[in-house]
Amino acid sequence: MPVAAVIFDWGGTLTPWHDVDLQSQWYAYAEIYDPVHAGELAVRLHAAEDYRHRLQRESDGAEGCGTLDSMFIELGIDIHGAQHAMALNAYLDGWTPHTFADPAAFDLLTALRADGIRVGVLSNTMWPRWHHESVLSRDGLLDLIDAAVYTSEIPVGKPHPHAYRAILDELGDIDPADAVYVGDRLWEDVHGPKAFGMRAIWLPNSAIPFDQLVATQVAPDATIAELGEVLAVVRTFGR
Ligand SMILES: [Mg+2]
Repeated sequence: MPVAAVIFDWGGTLTPWHDVDLQSQWYAYAEIYDPVHAGELAVRLHAAEDYRHRLQRESDGAEGCGTLDSMFIELGIDIHGAQHAMALNAYLDGWTPHTFADPAAFDLLTALRADGIRVGVLSNTMWPRWHHESVLSRDGLLDLIDAAVYTSEIPVGKPHPHAYRAILDELGDIDPADAVYVGDRLWEDVHGPKAFGMRAIWLPNSAIPFDQLVATQVAPDATIAELGEVLAVVRTFGR
């Protein structure tokens, strides 16, 4: 069966997993937006983010987690003011150390494209596209990606079938049977893609918090220890 496209998850897959204290990340925002109430605001931001991700998981992706902007507005934040712009920059800057691509990613994507395979990214994310693209561009990956779907731009999230359909459409109407998904989470990156008719490679290197794990009996088509192994596995699928 030929492989026409390989689609990657982003966090914990193209970019290695880091344990991050999400409330501290939000404190970097809060201490600029509202220094007097920074602690309380950081708690509210973290709780709102966590709630959206939980709703997405518990609805099997039917309830997407939306955009950062929609969350800010819901919390009464003035997203048009200068304080917000500075605070958002500080928040996103705080993520920088945790966003660097796996050192194997550049060679892997280059080799897949040399094999005539289209490369996609599908990420459950609240971040805006411009931020994802600036991160990928910094690491030299942006031009190696034929299409990306960030769920902040669509109403659903993984593992909802519309999320996988969206990236296959963006890649040029690819048949799920000709596509391979690569990711670090069994529910979103193996169960979802396989239920949609794709093959799935699991990269189980992430210390995913227990409360984010969804029980599933699904078996990946391949399990790898390092991202770079994707190339050999995909070539096996293609024979
Ligand atoms: Mg992931």
